[in-house]
Amino acid sequence: MATERTFSIIKPDATARNLTGAVNSMIEQSGLRIVAQRRVRITREQAETFYSVHRERPFFGELVQFMTSGPVVVQVLQGDGAITKYREIMGATDPAKAANGTIRKTFARSMGENSVHGSDSAENAAAEIAQFFSGNDIVG
Ligand code: ATP
Ligand code: MG
Repeated sequence: MATERTFSIIKPDATARNLTGAVNSMIEQSGLRIVAQRRVRITREQAETFYSVHRERPFFGELVQFMTSGPVVVQVLQGDGAITKYREIMGATDPAKAANGTIRKTFARSMGENSVHGSDSAENAAAEIAQFFSGNDIVG
């Protein structure tokens, strides 16, 4: 499988509970490598751009409000099949439906406060990484 990069966010519900290290441990246990990482408070504009695909959805306002409610940790993860692998270890969007041992099953509070984001395609991974990191920030 080809080495890929994917974009991850440790969301405000997880940083609020001091779970950055616990999430990172699950990422590293899976074999993925954290090749860039920064703790930030994202702006409303950044959140709206990031989730613009969901602009028409009823939960959009709530989603933007949540993502700007506290610090997040933005990351680039690298490894074989990183995009699919990270989606697997995150688990389903709704933690009630997520498999045992996944990050969301272990830590998420709800469908909205679900602890992590991971890119869903190579195209989106590239765009999302570029929104938060420049080349020199990423050290593989
Ligand atoms: P993410 O994009 O954050 O990795 P995902 O790809 O599993 O999650 P999406 O369908 O892209 O899920 O939804 C983006 C985010 O919007 C979800 O992670 C969740 O926080 C929020 N969300 C999605 N559906 C709902 C819903 N029905 N009610 C509340 N929030 C929702
Ligand atoms: Mg998504």
